[in-house]
Amino acid sequence: VAEKFKASKGTADILPDAMAGHRLVVETARAIWERAGYGTIETPIFEDTGLFQRGVGDSTDIVRKEMFTFEDQGGRSLTLRPEGTAPVCRAFVEHGMSRLPQPVKLGYAGSFFRHEKPQAGRYRQFHQIGVEAIGTESPLADFEVIALLDELVSELGIPGVTLRIGSLGSLDARRSYLEVLKSYLRERSGELSEDVRERIEINPLRAFDSDHEGTAVVMEGAPRLIDHLDDADRQHFDEVQALLRAGGIEFELDTTLVRGLDYYTRTIFSFVCDRLGAQSEIGGGGRYDGLISQLGGPETPAVGWAAGVERILLALDPETETPSPDVFIAWADEGDRERAVVLVRELRLKGLSAGIDIAGRNLKGQLKQADRTGARWTLILNTDGSGELKRMETGEQQTIDPGDLAGLDLN
Ligand code: AMP
Repeated sequence: VAEKFKASKGTADILPDAMAGHRLVVETARAIWERAGYGTIETPIFEDTGLFQRGVGDSTDIVRKEMFTFEDQGGRSLTLRPEGTAPVCRAFVEHGMSRLPQPVKLGYAGSFFRHEKPQAGRYRQFHQIGVEAIGTESPLADFEVIALLDELVSELGIPGVTLRIGSLGSLDARRSYLEVLKSYLRERSGELSEDVRERIEINPLRAFDSDHEGTAVVMEGAPRLIDHLDDADRQHFDEVQALLRAGGIEFELDTTLVRGLDYYTRTIFSFVCDRLGAQSEIGGGGRYDGLISQLGGPETPAVGWAAGVERILLALDPETETPSPDVFIAWADEGDRERAVVLVRELRLKGLSAGIDIAGRNLKGQLKQADRTGARWTLILNTDGSGELKRMETGEQQTIDPGDLAGLDLN
């Protein structure tokens, strides 16, 4: 027997009965960003590896160990996109979008790839939806993008969601704080996990994220970035919070919040869901005021988020459904087969959902098939050119001219 293939580890097929749920999430998100004036953008699935090294940051887990990187035939290093912000910023710079009226507001949906250890809610290929508001440092933009994710949560009815926010300050203010944190960690390095200890110099903030017990104890007493913000950063953060309060968006201040990407500055936020296990974040993001200039563009402040479609679906657990036709066309006499095919084609071209058996079954088999597909009506063609229209639910039947079918109210 020939060996069977399976989808690669950490990847999954979305089968037709799960597609309705997947689509609901993506289309609800798209409707939300479009009605707020965000245009939709799609960037390529792979990019130059350097974009992510520079954009996401060399010290992050993503760049250090999670990228699917390969060489093309010309020896160029390419990487399947692990996230969407760096590609959107690359596109912003490449297409000179800084010349457009600012801010430029963009939304995207698509597949992303990280070589992670798969578990519930964590995959190697997953889907994200996201928005970016590029070209303003106003707290109004922070508020707007957070409000959009909040709208998605309430419109989809995702239960048990809490918004946490924090501020990382601007890059300059952060630099001096990081020195304070590093020396605090160095003094207690014996109590830290190996992973955290190794990264004291390159990414000390991640220590806040560690689930290692000793590290957690050390971090409880660690100096907090929030106490080291400069006046401008503090005022910005206060304004974001005031806007959230005015907008009736509840949040918790989290002074230990960090994110897995290097580019964040000032506001960061995370929407977590208590119905999920270890991977409880459904979406999050923040401000990234330095990223566009780091990618060769002009100094351009920006803010955005990404949310995981699979995580949202785990929290929502939507009903599965397969599409069923409005009407199923059947025939008894083989001489009516072509008439049936032509009629189905006409109905579909008129926008109706019309079913037909394409496996060559006899009438009994066709009717069984109609039942299996969940058709609400069946039309059996008679040899005299008329047809018997049957409402499947009640069995009630009437003789009609098949040409009139498209005009009937098939509810
Ligand atoms: P990030 O791009 O890391 O800020 O993640 C944003 C959101 O994407 C998270 O809140 C998750 O919902 C989702 N996400 C990130 N990584 C994965 C993954 N490996 N599998 C599934 N969802 C993910």
